[in-house]
Amino acid sequence: MDDPAPGPQRRSVTARGGYGSVVVTDPATGERVEVRRSARRRRTISAHREGDRIVVLLPAHLGHAAEQEWVGRMVARIRDRERRRRPGDGDLAARADDLSRRYLAGRARPASVSWSAAQRRRWGSCTPEDRSVRISDRLRAAPDWVLDYVLVHELAHLVEPSHSRRFWDLVSAYPQTDRARAWLEGYETGATAGARSA
Ligand SMILES: [Zn+2]
Repeated sequence: MDDPAPGPQRRSVTARGGYGSVVVTDPATGERVEVRRSARRRRTISAHREGDRIVVLLPAHLGHAAEQEWVGRMVARIRDRERRRRPGDGDLAARADDLSRRYLAGRARPASVSWSAAQRRRWGSCTPEDRSVRISDRLRAAPDWVLDYVLVHELAHLVEPSHSRRFWDLVSAYPQTDRARAWLEGYETGATAGARSA
């Protein structure tokens, strides 16, 4: 009788050797936060933005309470920094002009572009009658490429008011359209879920 062939060896693999990563959604803002722990990182704590999420780097040994505190502090720091370098209305108009030139062949010529605190449900709006564009305050903390997408979207409405095929052809000249739409959808989902559980 032959010995049975040895089965596949199950080797237990130590999970990432002290390195872990977890992504959470901040219920207050819908912001995605990735917490990365590294055994090699002994003392330093840092944070930066990677696309649609804020990444916080922590030493592996940090306890849960300290982790919570540091993540909150670092996320607030990144968001503050982003808010501080947000353009005012004048800068927003200049930015819109630039985007119109680059992606819409300069055909969208808004009379005014401004931030609006009234837009809680929409990201932006466009009134073709007076050629005004308003951008929701909620985007002040969004990454630049998301803000640019919303600007291009509203500017394109000056050329094509409806969400027609022609409209989306215009908007898709902006290369980050799909990515930005996914980011905004994720934000809405996160913000809605947070509001429900609050
Ligand atoms: Zn639209």
